[in-house]
Amino acid sequence: MNRVVVVGAGLAGIRSVEALRGRGFEGHITLVGQERHRPYDRPPLSKAVLMGQTDTTTVDSDLEALRVDFRPGVAAKGLREGVVETTEGELPFDRLIIATGADPITLPGDGPQQTLRTIDDAHLLRVTFVPGARVVIIGAGWIGAEVATAARKAGCDVTVVEAGPAPLSHVLGSEIGARTLPWYEHIDLRLRTMVREVDEGGVLLADGEFLDADVVVTGIGVRPAVEWLADADIDLHNGVVTDEYLRASMPGVVAVGDCASWWSRRYGRHLRVEHWDTALSAPEVAAATVLGEEQAYDPVPYFWSEQFGHMVQFAGDQQGARLVYRGEQEPKWTACWLTDDDRLSAVLTVDRPRDLVQGRRVIESGQHVDVALLVDPQVSLRDC
Ligand code: FAD
Repeated sequence: MNRVVVVGAGLAGIRSVEALRGRGFEGHITLVGQERHRPYDRPPLSKAVLMGQTDTTTVDSDLEALRVDFRPGVAAKGLREGVVETTEGELPFDRLIIATGADPITLPGDGPQQTLRTIDDAHLLRVTFVPGARVVIIGAGWIGAEVATAARKAGCDVTVVEAGPAPLSHVLGSEIGARTLPWYEHIDLRLRTMVREVDEGGVLLADGEFLDADVVVTGIGVRPAVEWLADADIDLHNGVVTDEYLRASMPGVVAVGDCASWWSRRYGRHLRVEHWDTALSAPEVAAATVLGEEQAYDPVPYFWSEQFGHMVQFAGDQQGARLVYRGEQEPKWTACWLTDDDRLSAVLTVDRPRDLVQGRRVIESGQHVDVALLVDPQVSLRDC
């Protein structure tokens, strides 16, 4: 086994290269990335970059020391056993790591709509954020909330259009989402509002109202970037389907990061999470699998968001669990989700990072908790 190809030069891609070298792999590694940039981090795009606090977010990795054949501006177009077809010809491989991430979903209509996935998107968007600019953001999810934060800070006139009953409702439920409503104080937040299309000059809503806009930002989610695999003999279902070792159905192929739907032993189902922490940590397992070692990927997923001056952090999986709060709503608070037999399955914190760290450990341990202690914010989560 001498030739590894990594497709996708985002965080999961470059971390895979680092992990292979870190585990002593001496063979040839090719890293193919359709963007013309060196691998960079995306979380700052909707935060520091959009706010003009930094221009670059390049991942701190030494491509020369890693002895990687990096091919920027090259896209994979197809896959058959042992060969990746790219825009620059065929690349044979012994092992393949798929790390192509995800692409933003857009709405119908001929008007200009901006999405935020790449550093080029962030640079384009931030020059439009000038005082008084009418910015309509479609979607009050993680990205929408962060973009709204930056647009408000720049002095824009911001409208956020959300189909659900509250911000973040599709990811955390409407009860939690409603707790973030006060953060939208200086924003025209339209809930339960559907967009029909994006037109020249603004957004046409389903009820016929037209929202004038200088800038329209669509933040309604992403799809795994696996279209290039459509004709390949590989299982695709909400991304590249893998087992707990991140092995795809095609021999010699693994998948990591936003594009991978891996079998979670912990949760007993496939998970595909679009979180930085996964792109950071899963490549260790992918590299181990590529090198023939047995190491399962079984994390408690973790995510954070910075919005309206608050640090929001989430760990775990809340599906089917019951919600309890630790203390009152403002200004800092923690929500916990519990299983029927009182184990912690997920924790959400607003400006309470210690609860997050401790809660994540309690989730990992799978221990039972004393709910009477847990709801008391004075009691440390690790002592519950
Ligand atoms: P990506 O970073 O998407 O990298 C995949 C790369 O593959 C891309 O460069 C893509 O162009 C390339 N590619 C795609 N198709 C092909 C092809 N056919 N051939 C060659 N190359 C291809 N997560 C958090 O936990 N917290 C946050 O606060 C947070 N903020 C975010 C803010 C923004 C604006 C965005 C966009 C994401 C944010 N995320 C956040 C999510 C996090 O950045 C992603 O989970 C992470 O980037 C996934 O890494 P990845 O390497 O799997 O995919």
